[in-house]
Amino acid sequence: MARRIRFPRSRALAAAAILVVAILSVALVYRQRPPVLHVQSGFEMGTFVEIRAYGGKNAADAISRGFERLREIERLMSTSIPESDIAKLNTAQPRTPVQVHPDTAHVVSSAIAYAQKTGGAFDPTVGKLVELWAIGSGNETVPTSDEIRDALLGVGYENLVVDSKQSRITRLTDLRLDLGAIAKGYASDEIVELLVAENISGGVVDLGGNIRVFGRNPLRKQWRIGIQDPFRPRGSYIGTVDISSGAVATSGDYERYFVADGVRYHHILDPESGYPASPQLKSVTVVAETGIEADALSTGLFVLGLDEMFDFIENVPSVGVIAITADRRVIVSSGIAHAFVKASEDFEYEIR
Ligand code: AMP
Ligand code: MG
Repeated sequence: MARRIRFPRSRALAAAAILVVAILSVALVYRQRPPVLHVQSGFEMGTFVEIRAYGGKNAADAISRGFERLREIERLMSTSIPESDIAKLNTAQPRTPVQVHPDTAHVVSSAIAYAQKTGGAFDPTVGKLVELWAIGSGNETVPTSDEIRDALLGVGYENLVVDSKQSRITRLTDLRLDLGAIAKGYASDEIVELLVAENISGGVVDLGGNIRVFGRNPLRKQWRIGIQDPFRPRGSYIGTVDISSGAVATSGDYERYFVADGVRYHHILDPESGYPASPQLKSVTVVAETGIEADALSTGLFVLGLDEMFDFIENVPSVGVIAITADRRVIVSSGIAHAFVKASEDFEYEIR
């Protein structure tokens, strides 16, 4: 007669308890050891780029793919690469549709949308003006008013038509496109999307001051981003802003400029006057959900100037602003004031 072997109850309980303790201690060890940080930096899109990624088995590979994606976007959207979509558009006959990559069509139609929203303060059709001033080229001179008038001929986002379905763009006038104020923000979003798809648990993508954060920060609850002091060397901050995800982009008069006869001329141009915008401002930082929005709006709000910028964001609750003026005031929008911490005694701070 077969005997049924029964496992004593007390032993089963003990075995279960040991198993639970083992699982808990493995979990504890795992919790205590933060995921490994991978960092890669380089010079891309004319600026310093750094990608930091936590965890994920293939973090280093994922970051390399992020850099590759960045180069791909630059090859499509740079004004200085002759084969780029933008160069093709800028040299095509006006009124002739140009076939572009869907990514280019997407960025150009987003750029038009931000131009509409900011009443043309941000305007991707200022290319001729950018070429005329050539700020950052090393041999800049102040253009004559006739030259500026000519460079403004045909400027206006309404002269640009995008057929998103067919990925075709048409210039109605002989304007020149320049995506320098939006492409980095777009690229930061694309890189984050790629890193998330590669199971990276959290990280920071910094494309020359266009910063995107995502996922979990193993070191603290949120991500802390320093806001550059426009009067001091890079890495000196007027304060920090803490966010759990999203984008922080700064447009500053110190990024690219030249000085002639004691006057400083910077690279953020007012599409109405043709001259560098808002001399009373040093920088505008925008906190938004996406990099493309933060990048486009930091440029656009810089052009709008202090008062109009705060009127603008009243209707856009998802966007925060930190403006720094030439007379050393820091004005933080009320929606992000709780996340901002000041870090300098050289400024007057106010919440608006
Ligand atoms: P950002 O650093 O993002 O503010 O972008 C500045 C760059 O965008 C300049 O170097 C120009 O290439 C271009 N740009 C200048 N003024 C404008 C403007 N009003 N709207 C759109 N792009 C601009
Ligand atoms: Mg910008």
